[in-house]
Amino acid sequence: MTLLKKAFSKTVDVLFPKICYSCGERLIGNESFVCSSCSAKIEPYYESICRVCGSFDVQAKAICRFCNENRAHFDKCRSVIQYNEVARVLIHELKYNEKTKIADMLANIAIEYIENTKPYRSVDCVVNIPLHAVKRRSRGYNQAEFLAARIADHFAWKHNPSLFKKALPTASQTSLSSEERKTNVANAFSVDSKANIKDHNFLIIDDVFTTGATVNAASGELKKRNADKVYVLTIARA
Ligand SMILES: [Zn+2]
Ligand SMILES: [Zn+2]
Repeated sequence: MTLLKKAFSKTVDVLFPKICYSCGERLIGNESFVCSSCSAKIEPYYESICRVCGSFDVQAKAICRFCNENRAHFDKCRSVIQYNEVARVLIHELKYNEKTKIADMLANIAIEYIENTKPYRSVDCVVNIPLHAVKRRSRGYNQAEFLAARIADHFAWKHNPSLFKKALPTASQTSLSSEERKTNVANAFSVDSKANIKDHNFLIIDDVFTTGATVNAASGELKKRNADKVYVLTIARA
């Protein structure tokens, strides 16, 4: 059994729902959220990875296309699982249906990943990508903040949920091209002017790495304020 599957099967004490979010089959026994055949489809993110951003799309010198073309502002990014259909369904439920127990399960998988691979040398503060205030009011909570809180709590790292402020309401990223995403997120964040950034090491948590534009923009803001290391962890990666 992979670590991931073990972490997954640990969440047996959860009572809902009775049908698989992914395929709709009735859940039996210890199954929670997704049936065992769907949970078997949750796969760890690839092992052959870019040493900066963690992509499996690695070229010469172990640097991927993203890092060649975009100039990553973070020092290291890692993602825990592949963004396949089952991961998509779980993250969708996490975002839109306030399923805090799914957040617990995904946070546990991330915690296990960090414990086993120790990707970050020293973390002073965990931060999350903000939802714009209006969006936050309508959705009720920020899933990235929830994940960040759980992970920070486990490792006794400091968590600052409001370090980043979203300056502008950005159009939803999902409908945009890669170029449009970069423009969309440029200047979308501001950093709390009173926060201690200089020479501190940060870990930014987000749910999905799609083009990397969002976490890269956030990392850039921290680097502008002379952060030392900026690390990124996303639960899933496309
Ligand atoms: Zn299923
Ligand atoms: Zn890379």
